[in-house]
Amino acid sequence: MKPEKSTSKLLEVKKAQEIIFSNFSNLNSIDLPLIDSQNYVLSKDIFAPFNLPEKDNSAMDGFAIKYKDIIDNKITELKVVGRVGAENKSEVYLNKGQAIRIMTGGEIPKGADSVVPFENTDSGPMRGLNYPKKVTINTPVNLGDNIREAGLDYKKGSLVLKAGHLLNPPSLGVLASFGINNVPVTRKPVISVISTGNEVVMPGDERKPGQIYDSNSFIISSAIKESGGEVNLLNIVGDRKEDIESAILSCRNSDLIISIGGVSKGDFDLIKDVLLEKGEINFWGINMKPGKPLAFGRLNLEGENVFQIGLPGNPVSAYVCFELFVRPIILKMMGANDIMRKKIKAKLTNDITNTDGRRMYTRVKILEENNEFIAEIYNNQNSNILSSLVFADGLAICPEDCKVIKSGDETEVILLEG
Ligand code: AMP
Ligand code: MG
Repeated sequence: MKPEKSTSKLLEVKKAQEIIFSNFSNLNSIDLPLIDSQNYVLSKDIFAPFNLPEKDNSAMDGFAIKYKDIIDNKITELKVVGRVGAENKSEVYLNKGQAIRIMTGGEIPKGADSVVPFENTDSGPMRGLNYPKKVTINTPVNLGDNIREAGLDYKKGSLVLKAGHLLNPPSLGVLASFGINNVPVTRKPVISVISTGNEVVMPGDERKPGQIYDSNSFIISSAIKESGGEVNLLNIVGDRKEDIESAILSCRNSDLIISIGGVSKGDFDLIKDVLLEKGEINFWGINMKPGKPLAFGRLNLEGENVFQIGLPGNPVSAYVCFELFVRPIILKMMGANDIMRKKIKAKLTNDITNTDGRRMYTRVKILEENNEFIAEIYNNQNSNILSSLVFADGLAICPEDCKVIKSGDETEVILLEG
């Protein structure tokens, strides 16, 4: 076999993202019980089936009154004519000079327009059926005090949550408030992960001299889960074409296959050969550092078309490539509106020097000092340095056409959390 030539042009990151992203779209919609819907993406708009709150109600435990009684007539003592709990409604119409005991959430009785909390009266909580039939109001009252208006939160018919919204704890609460127990969401993609390499063994297995433990499977699998995907983790595959092929074939029902390692220019790097044999390579090689040798292609596995992303074997490269190319498509398949990480501008603590015109992603920790963000650069940026990933919560970008970003200058940083 002829040795590989290294003349092929590297693809710009943006172009590679465009190509990969354009090949994925949202998966089918399913209905889930509300309690199981967290971290799924809503697949349909949700409109308010009724006002929230449904009726004008009290924001405090106290007395429903007519504010004019207090303002105009300087009356401070009112006759107590009833009591309303959070669950019920008074049938009594409130007349001049009257008050009704009302608890937080209780519907405002007809005729009342304001609520005075217990602490502004001579009364307080009363257990049992009896309560004093008079109350003295000790403070001035404004019209509408302590009344939560019907529909103040959501008006009937208004858009509550948009399709594409990632369901977090507050959104589950909102759906629950409307009594919605069946939630339309997009199903999560199943991503197969295959680590390759003769030298790689699973933690827990016996390790022979020269072998290393597999860190990539764990970084990438947990990153998939964190992004919202489901993982199908395969056993490690040695650098044998037939073994790689049969591992890949067993993943033909997944939504994406990620292989790790074996995608560079080494004698035992066989991923591209497999891609070429079982399908087609869309591109190989990205103008970035770390993470140059990434392959993207489509496999035809016994009639099933499945995309494969071949991540580089060095753990930092694998993870940075995951962040830039895989996380967004997991979110896209899940139907999310927001698929990219947030970016900020931060001042560098050291120079970033770009020696070969690639787009650099430098591991940094973000600190906040005097209302500005500082990006502390990790001292070793090699692609095998796991401690740089543990240290970092951001990737500082040095563009391909920039030779150096000086210490103290600002640059764009991709936040890796939140
Ligand atoms: P490769 O892309 O297969 O040439 O691998 C590049 C480097 O990453 C080599 O030093 C490998 O030993 C290392 N590597 C590959 N796979 C893993 C893995 N799963 N865990 C840790 N290191 C790996
Ligand atoms: Mg390898």
